[in-house]
Amino acid sequence: MNEKMSIAVVGGGIVGSTTAFYLSQQPNYEVTLYDNGVGQATSAAAGIICPWLSQRRNKKWYQLAAKGAAFYPALIQDLGEDPDRSAIYRQVGALVIKKTPKLLEKLEKIATKRRETEPTIGELSILSPEEVHEKMPLLHISESALFASGGAKVDGALLTEKLQEQALKNGACVMKEAAELSIQHTQPQPYTLTTSSGQKSFDKVVLAVGAWLPEVLTPLGYDVDIRPQKGQLVELHVNAETDDWPVVMPDGEKDIIPFANGKVIVGATHENDQGYDLEPTKRHLRVMLDEAIELAPDLAEAEIKGIRVGTRAYTSDFAPFFGEVPDAPGLYAASGLGSSGLTSGPIIARILTQLINGEDADLSPNDYPIENYISKR
Ligand SMILES: Cc1cc2nc3c(=O)[nH]c(=O)nc-3n(C[C@H](O)[C@H](O)[C@H](O)COP(=O)(O)OP(=O)(O)OC[C@H]3O[C@@H](n4cnc5c(N)ncnc54)[C@H](O)[C@@H]3O)c2cc1C
Repeated sequence: MNEKMSIAVVGGGIVGSTTAFYLSQQPNYEVTLYDNGVGQATSAAAGIICPWLSQRRNKKWYQLAAKGAAFYPALIQDLGEDPDRSAIYRQVGALVIKKTPKLLEKLEKIATKRRETEPTIGELSILSPEEVHEKMPLLHISESALFASGGAKVDGALLTEKLQEQALKNGACVMKEAAELSIQHTQPQPYTLTTSSGQKSFDKVVLAVGAWLPEVLTPLGYDVDIRPQKGQLVELHVNAETDDWPVVMPDGEKDIIPFANGKVIVGATHENDQGYDLEPTKRHLRVMLDEAIELAPDLAEAEIKGIRVGTRAYTSDFAPFFGEVPDAPGLYAASGLGSSGLTSGPIIARILTQLINGEDADLSPNDYPIENYISKR
């Protein structure tokens, strides 16, 4: 008889890969990760980790995102020594550009206050246009900008690849296919996942399927308040050493995120009326790129290397949730991470692992109540 607890994680984005990684460290668990990778938000994402300079008013969201940003260095440490470490995650600082000096001063006050409880934010300073250009040579702006040295960039695709690699080393099984859930209401192993290669039953299942949660739970009699949002960005190449440049966050969709070896990302769009469509829409991307070129004129000469499209998950009030699915003990879900899921995904995964382990959670799931978004019909 198998004495290990069998746990499946469905979805291999940031939430699922981090959950599988931490669960796989427990010797008494047998972990299987399923992922079909279609439309994944994590691998399309831009990669900014800088929640402290957001003026979103939802306190619970801020608490989660700030804790998520603070958790990153520990996550990277937990992944262990890796030659790609600095390509996965790096605190290069973030530059925020506002429309007026008054708005910038207001933001600086908010950030200074937040720094009292969130030291990860790092040093804060208002930089003149010349100082901005020195820090980020692509930018030619006439206003000052706020710089936070703790702002970071993360390569979502590389991070999930490394997390899955480590989970495999720890003995987990990774299945690159779509899984369909059914519930038997029998013990043990009430949850069965069916894929094109067969069927397997589990004691516990974590649904980390992002925008596809309705597809998994609706056939099982649940109403799920999750909708898809299309996000597109452009990957460019500039002839410069870009690795140390900070991420740039102006108002609107045209964030500029430099990675190593001349790679610069511009994006991302937020399209609520496109469903799960993954076709790039050139018109939308052109508008975004033109706005970025107004701030960084050299981008007009940059070579377009590719376009990435992913589907974010949103709830009707834009708040994320996680916890145990109502009426289904041992079935967990997290979704609704929206535009900040690279930031909050790892800490949510950590908390899901703590719930499964029966440990105290870093943040209470009651503050992100799953029952507000998933209900049995
Ligand atoms: C263009 C873009 C830019 C972004 N930029 C940022 C940013 O700068 N900072 C930030 O913090 N956040 C950013 N985000 C948001 C962030 O990427 C997402 O919120 C986060 O990645 C969501 O992670 P997830 O694990 O919940 O879902 P996903 O990453 O979407 O993963 C879900 C996975 O589940 C799989 N799946 C679904 N159903 C099944 C099934 N039945 N069987 C098997 N597998 C299944 C999917 O194929 C997918 O791979 C951005 C998103 C986009 C799209």
